[in-house]
Amino acid sequence: MSDFAQTVKEQADIVKVIEGYIRLRKAGAQNYSGLCPFHKEKSPSFSVHAVRQFYHCFGCGVSGDVFSFVGKIENVGFPEAVRIVAGKCGIPLPKREFSSPEEAAEARQRAKLLELNETAAAWFEEQLRGPEGAVAREYLTGRGLTPEGIKTFRIGYAPDSFNALRDRLRGMAGEDLLRLSGLFAWKEQEDGSQGSIYDRFRKRVVFPICNESGRVIAFTARTLETGDKAGAKYINSPETPLYSKGQVLFNLDKAKSSIRKHEFALLVEGQMDCISVYLRGIQNVIATSGTAFTEQQVGLLRRHTAQVVVNFDPDTAGANAAEKSIALLTEEGFNLKLVTLDDGLDPDRFIRERGVEAYMAALRGARRQSDYLIERARQMFPGGSAEQKVKAMNYLLPHIRRLPERLARDQFAADASQKLGIDSAVLREELRQAALKRKDHVESRSTPLTEVERVLLRALAITDPDDERSRRLAVEALAQQPTWFEHLGSYAALQALAQRQAADPMDAVEDQEQRALLAETLLAETKPPAETEVQSAIQEIHERALEHRLRDLRALIAAAERTGDFAELAILTQQKLELDRALRQLQDPGPRQ
Ligand SMILES: [Zn+2]
Repeated sequence: MSDFAQTVKEQADIVKVIEGYIRLRKAGAQNYSGLCPFHKEKSPSFSVHAVRQFYHCFGCGVSGDVFSFVGKIENVGFPEAVRIVAGKCGIPLPKREFSSPEEAAEARQRAKLLELNETAAAWFEEQLRGPEGAVAREYLTGRGLTPEGIKTFRIGYAPDSFNALRDRLRGMAGEDLLRLSGLFAWKEQEDGSQGSIYDRFRKRVVFPICNESGRVIAFTARTLETGDKAGAKYINSPETPLYSKGQVLFNLDKAKSSIRKHEFALLVEGQMDCISVYLRGIQNVIATSGTAFTEQQVGLLRRHTAQVVVNFDPDTAGANAAEKSIALLTEEGFNLKLVTLDDGLDPDRFIRERGVEAYMAALRGARRQSDYLIERARQMFPGGSAEQKVKAMNYLLPHIRRLPERLARDQFAADASQKLGIDSAVLREELRQAALKRKDHVESRSTPLTEVERVLLRALAITDPDDERSRRLAVEALAQQPTWFEHLGSYAALQALAQRQAADPMDAVEDQEQRALLAETLLAETKPPAETEVQSAIQEIHERALEHRLRDLRALIAAAERTGDFAELAILTQQKLELDRALRQLQDPGPRQ
């Protein structure tokens, strides 16, 4: 680790940094816990050790220091993680260093693309204020947007031109980067080459899409043309090195603090719905941008809350998207409620026409997902004939099976059978079976560590010179009698710790699984073990090593007897006698002097 990284690590508080991504609760004198952002779970098994400054998940086994966490969650390499943590802690960055030329080139490219997007966003805003933007301003006013609202969301206007933005950005970057930015389009030539670039967004109202840190990474643009020339109502930036549609939640950057405060997120379909609701003071609102939820989006959201109120458009497309999102969010252990607005209104129109109070009331009246789905089943298969009931049931069964908790599945099944008026014993049995087992059950890891190994790990991880004697005992035993320890599951971690140079024990163990064993032990630690504790742990391990050897000898003796190798048998029997004696001696050393 470079000096700079070391400095950052010393100054950063891992609890604060991780709290920037997920909710943590105090779980002990030195520990915090929360839902793991790296695997699906409903009860928290992710822990952060405030004193030793590392995290560990008892569910999926990930562990590491502040840089490893940031690297994993932001999906960046070590140098970038160091920079991000430094930024969060307000530590000034030294001149940039990269581990490889490729990495340096990639970082330069990303920085340049961010700069292009930012410049474009500012330029679109400027165009909206200019004379050409009149038509767009009129449209936005008509949709109830105030100048402040427009400023908050940095809404802009792309003028009716093929080269205005291109000319603005040309001096900033080469043609290759401009093509990568997603801001331009071009025609494929007959000879296979790429034609010259032109502005992708023309005569459209432009909404920037930001990443979680609030940087502009893409745009969505609504046409102002009508008739044949209009094209698609909305067009988006294509996938770029900065932007991938399924990996962004619209407005999460602005909504996240409010989501945490209110402990739920309001999920709407369209960006306009989201903007409209947010600007009227309901700030924990995010949008999927008209598609069903993806797993990456679930991952983004999980860091902030496990409760979602879904308010999608009531049309069929909306209901289908809602259903897919419900399915995914349920599987991922979210607690869901659903809102259906009166008269088939979408959130934007509803809140504009009926006001924020009425909308809040609708949110308070959100139905549990089971009620929503049962209602939907009844609408889809009306009439109440036996055949329709079977269809309704078949529609509901997969939803029931998806619920992670047995109790919730039971309740759902009971509600369905009651509300659909199911009296058939066969159907009831099927519902019961659906409630009985979940589709895919996530096993929690069990630890292979024994108590004595924990004592040794804790002793070897000692950093306080006052407790150095406990540590020395363990180090010496490992150095002098390595064979006693060889068969232990944590042997590699024990060795690495015994020989460690690094000040931080977590840095000494490189193997990920071995480090997880150490993390798990240190999280449960209260204080370092006393010398006597270490001594008796070593003795027990010695005993076990002898027993281990004894088992081997018995097998060898049995084999020698079978083959009639009497010379070998004599030697083995002698060894066994000595071993028996050593073991007895160890277990009962007689009166002390
Ligand atoms: Zn995990």
